[in-house]
Amino acid sequence: MSKNQILEEILNEVDKHPEIMSRRDALKFMSVSPVAASVMAGTTVGAATAAAADVKGKIVIVGGGLAGMSTAARLNNSISNADITVIEPDPMSVSYQPGQTLVGAGLWDKSDIQYNRDEFLPSGVKLIKGSVTAFDPDNNSVTVDGSQEVKYDQMIIATGVMLNYAQIKGLEGEITSSGKDNAAVKNSGIGKDGLHSIYFQDGAEATYKGIEELIAKAKAHKGPEKLQAVFTHPNTPIKCGGAPKKIMYLTNARLVEAGVRDKVELTFYPNGGGMFGIKDYHTAIVEQFKTRGFKWHYNITLSK
Ligand SMILES: Cc1cc2nc3c(=O)[nH]c(=O)nc-3n(C[C@H](O)[C@H](O)[C@H](O)COP(=O)(O)OP(=O)(O)OC[C@H]3O[C@@H](n4cnc5c(N)ncnc54)[C@H](O)[C@@H]3O)c2cc1C
Repeated sequence: MSKNQILEEILNEVDKHPEIMSRRDALKFMSVSPVAASVMAGTTVGAATAAAADVKGKIVIVGGGLAGMSTAARLNNSISNADITVIEPDPMSVSYQPGQTLVGAGLWDKSDIQYNRDEFLPSGVKLIKGSVTAFDPDNNSVTVDGSQEVKYDQMIIATGVMLNYAQIKGLEGEITSSGKDNAAVKNSGIGKDGLHSIYFQDGAEATYKGIEELIAKAKAHKGPEKLQAVFTHPNTPIKCGGAPKKIMYLTNARLVEAGVRDKVELTFYPNGGGMFGIKDYHTAIVEQFKTRGFKWHYNITLSK
């Protein structure tokens, strides 16, 4: 008998005795076995991948960003009779966030990083266009947009992180990287008057305008004092810890290209006491900063 048949028999047996064990509990038990783990990871453990292909149970993935959609694709490829539903409200949820650094430096357009969610839904995977507004783990269900109840056997939460600008005094609002519901953030001033963020799409686009404005100011600048360009790294988890430094390097390159680097001082303010957690990388970055004439001050968090 193949491993595939053994798994099928186990689940069929479980289905006959709901008073002893639900399918959800059985799937939970199986998920600690190497065979089922190989299904979840989409990897090969000896002959296990083929063996685990016929898995029962409804899988709900909350959040269809890069993590949610890629997990849906892997499970869909690994399970022959997959019943997978992704719940995602944002039509641009799979847009390519790492490219926002390049948009901020004017190397790419916003349209280069925008991708439509619906075109990346794996074949056979269902999509609910909405937000989960309540979780009810005791009853294996979630509520979408306050009204639609969705049941599951296994749930995967892939809701990413929200950008919480309101933690900085004077700014307001929380948004996703694709910029959904960003009115409060924009109204509070990000994206104009020299204040920029590359962590959401519109903000990245506005950042390049900010760099162009800085170059224009530097060209007109006459006094001995330099213009100040300040880059910060907050004391919260962020998407891509490298991005604050990357946009600093790219701003530097734009200033050099425009022939005005000597008119602007670039300073980096990380919240921590070093440039990077690994000593060798820290040392290499400090050397790069010195070569480029950057300044820096450790242990500073932008609070207002
Ligand atoms: C400027 C920048 C540079 C980066 N550079 C790199 C890099 O160089 N290398 C790298 O590996 N990574 C990089 N990243 C990070 C990487 O892009 C993200 O970690 C990744 O996109 C996160 O994917 P995710 O699916 O977890 O989250 P998200 O893309 O945020 O997706 C989460 C989804 O969940 C949805 N959601 C939220 N709440 C709910 C709800 N209640 N119900 C239903 N859906 C919900 C949201 O609408 C969203 O679409 C960068 C990010 C940025 C911003």
